[in-house]
Amino acid sequence: MSETILITGASQVVTLRGGGPRRGNSLSKIGVIKDGAVLVREGKIAALGPRAQVERRAEAKSAEKLDVGGRVVLPGFVDSHTHLIHAASRAEEYELKIQGASYEEIARKGGGILNSVKKLRAATREALKRRAASALGEFAAHGTTTVEAKSGYGLDVASEMKILKLHQELNQEQPLEIVSTFLGAHVVPAEFRGKADGAEKYLELLMEKLLPELVVGDLAEYGDVFCDRGAFTVGQSKKLLAKAKEHGLTPRLHAEQLSRTGATQLAVELGAASCDHLEHVNDSDIRALGKSKTVATLLPGCDFHLGLKEYAPARKLIEAGAIVALATDYNPGTSPTMSMPMVLSVACNQLRMTPAEAIAAATINGAAALGREKKIGSLEEGKRADLAVCEVEDYREIPYYFGMNLCWMTMKSGEIVWMKD
Ligand SMILES: [Zn+2]
Repeated sequence: MSETILITGASQVVTLRGGGPRRGNSLSKIGVIKDGAVLVREGKIAALGPRAQVERRAEAKSAEKLDVGGRVVLPGFVDSHTHLIHAASRAEEYELKIQGASYEEIARKGGGILNSVKKLRAATREALKRRAASALGEFAAHGTTTVEAKSGYGLDVASEMKILKLHQELNQEQPLEIVSTFLGAHVVPAEFRGKADGAEKYLELLMEKLLPELVVGDLAEYGDVFCDRGAFTVGQSKKLLAKAKEHGLTPRLHAEQLSRTGATQLAVELGAASCDHLEHVNDSDIRALGKSKTVATLLPGCDFHLGLKEYAPARKLIEAGAIVALATDYNPGTSPTMSMPMVLSVACNQLRMTPAEAIAAATINGAAALGREKKIGSLEEGKRADLAVCEVEDYREIPYYFGMNLCWMTMKSGEIVWMKD
């Protein structure tokens, strides 16, 4: 393709223009242009607007034309919460859960996260990389252009470093952008369990050995903690995230998924980039998020897969003015999907978000959760040409159809990275 591309023939261009992040009523104002066109130059958006207007530009006349045949163009999805690197699925636990075992019962029997840890430690770098590269291909095929990726299935120095180095390699070797997060404090590994101070000793290892080493290699931008029942306490999370912050990592948190711990208040207090899950937030947490810059990232794919009835209170969060984002939480235990369109369907049906709100939450607000809202997450002049084209005429059909992939083309920085045959 030439340096300049004119994308034309769009029934709708969903722009999300007007800056971000989006709160309250602005979440549903997604800036739709009917019969729109987008001019892409050197990987960035040079112009966009009604087709006739964009086509009048001299540059548009000499550009290579890409006719999308009446489909919908929207910003590429920004998936701000994934556990990209893991060794295998946990389909056997899926079956146990269907037969009645709870997530926590499975974890107590050595299943759950520790099962994935055992498999990751035994896996070769090459096998992990192959699996992750194939997953990234699926993300691209479903319209996602930026993927946050967490470590957290290694839980010792060598294995966590193995994951974080793979984030870096994959970021250089394939087209999607990977934003790396250190989640050494996912759970306490088996070898530290059974002692009263096991968790403290493990956190010491993370703070004294692992953090300094990963910082030298510039291997992570964010530090995350699974702050919940069966994982880490608010006090432990605070200690680790403060240390991570000293090393230049911006905090984020897994908060209030299995129980209410106060992790949301901690996230707000620390100025965390996001706090994620939020199924068990209370009214005071919701108020705090409404006044804060910390993004409230909802992961309804997780509740869907676990067959849970209680989803995060998206409507209350939106009404309180919180910055609500949506992400897949791609991981082998609770949310095995790379499909943001499927997450949008669940968000509409179960969280009662409108299609417009869900799309904004998965694009501009996802970008805000990764500190990238000025570069990606909306289609505006000067921003990166990251976009998805869906095989629908109306953007509301993106969540309306479920369990099928209607993404027709994905473009990252002006390059086509996926196209339907
Ligand atoms: Zn997670």
